[in-house]
Parts: sequence; C-alpha cells; structure tokens
Amino acid sequence: MDCKHCHSVNFHKSGFTRGKQRYKCKDCGRYFVVGDDRTTDKIINTKALCVVFYSLAKASYGMLGKVFDPATAH
Ligand SMILES: [Zn+2]
Repeated sequence: MDCKHCHSVNFHKSGFTRGKQRYKCKDCGRYFVVGDDRTTDKIINTKALCVVFYSLAKASYGMLGKVFDPATAH
C-alpha cells in the first residue's frame, strides 16, 4: 500500500478515523486511510458490469445481423 495522494511509502500511523487506521504521509504531509475504498470498489464493479452488458449487446447484435443479413435472407 502507498499514500493515496502522492503514492509514497514513506508514512507513519497517526491515530484512527471512522474506526480505521489513519496514516500521515511524510512526503506530502497529508492524511489518508487504508481500506476506505468503497467508492473505488463501486466504480470497478460498475465498469465490470458495463463490460458484461457491452459483451451481451455485441453478441445480440451479431446474432441479429446473421438472422437479418440481406445476403442470407433470400
Ligand atoms: Zn503522500
């Protein structure tokens, strides 16, 4: 793990916030909390879902293209 702001690994523990370990970065002087990345997880899940839907849509379009292809419809 690294600093969420500057990605430095030069940090030390600095108490707790919202029940989670808080760290203070020695390089940029800012605080960050490890494990508090629900937002990131949500974004990743949404992206994964989009990929699945896109794949399904593409597959469906390909199937429709075969069924309604003018070259094979006569
Ligand atoms: Zn930092």
